[in-house]
Amino acid sequence: MSLFRPAIERMAGYTPGEQPQDSGWIKLNTNENPYPPSPAVLKALHATVDSGRLHLYPDPLAKAFRQAAAEVFQVDPDWILPGNGSDEVLTILTRTFVDPGQSTVYPYPSYILYETLADIQDAGSTRWLLNPDWSFNWSTAGNVLESAKLVFIPNPNSPSGNRWSDSDILRAIPPSGMLVLDEAYGDFADSPHRGELLRQPRGERIVITRTFSKSYSLAGIRFGFAIAHPDVIAGMQKAKDSYNCDALSLAAATAAMRDQNWMQANVAKIRATRARLAESLTQLGFAVTPSQTNFIWCTYPGRPHRDLYDALKSRKILVRYMKFPGVDWAPDGILDGLRISIGTDDEINGLLTALRHILSQ
Ligand SMILES: *Cc1c(COP(=O)(O)O)cnc(C)c1O
Repeated sequence: MSLFRPAIERMAGYTPGEQPQDSGWIKLNTNENPYPPSPAVLKALHATVDSGRLHLYPDPLAKAFRQAAAEVFQVDPDWILPGNGSDEVLTILTRTFVDPGQSTVYPYPSYILYETLADIQDAGSTRWLLNPDWSFNWSTAGNVLESAKLVFIPNPNSPSGNRWSDSDILRAIPPSGMLVLDEAYGDFADSPHRGELLRQPRGERIVITRTFSKSYSLAGIRFGFAIAHPDVIAGMQKAKDSYNCDALSLAAATAAMRDQNWMQANVAKIRATRARLAESLTQLGFAVTPSQTNFIWCTYPGRPHRDLYDALKSRKILVRYMKFPGVDWAPDGILDGLRISIGTDDEINGLLTALRHILSQ
């Protein structure tokens, strides 16, 4: 007899990308930023330690952070809700809006964590199969969106790196639910959004989530946040732990948010490296999907992707091998390929040198 809830017993659990703890790797598998965070972040962390206040709970309302984020997104602070990574914000959203037995939807292939969150909640999760060019399939949308309480859309998308238009996003708001716009990669896009969709008609049905793990170089800190209409934020507030963000991560995120120039300089470097990598991969014979993110999705016609992944790993280069069953337009119904994070120029040179070797063998 199992002591677990049946929903937990049944589920497989999410498998994050590998995080080797030894050095010497070129790590291009989990879309971390290769550049350091703003020096202001380190100063804020030191100041927090030196303040002698670590014996006290942090500000449960995160006032300083909300103020900083509100200025950047041009909303009032009550439009902002911080979380312990944007993954926690997604958890809070599921707890807030979805009862057991109700349904969630996400475009597929995309971020599989959405399915895990629904599993934990004992809710349904429907894969809204994308077209081969990664556009939305509007012929199935009516059916799929009909009963959804939450629709999760990562925009730009992972693993493909494409970004859907605002009109596509607005059209995907479910008739009796909320749309979660996961903008984990929003800062890497051509003209980054700053919450404009929330000010559209029906914008009160959208929650935008953002993370410090990618563009702000703070994956180790665990910090993300939601932006939404204050009524939505107030509801989510009830479903979160009082002290879900600790004093150190709050200080770090506030300082990072206040140094937009630093973040944008890193984003510019990554976008330049991304263009170079896309071109080099194409020259090597890869099919490359144009990317609005800090990674590139590519496929190679002549060699199993799993073998390329293994050959790179044996050279201490980690990329993400990804495999999506249930894609009816892919060979044997399985879409697979490599998702390569944009590293420093040196790291990308190392990757390209290794790939040239591997492909010439
Ligand atoms: C990386 C990523 C996140 C996770 O962000 P954290 O703030 O590190 O939890 C969320 N959504 C997508 C699509 C991501 O790729």
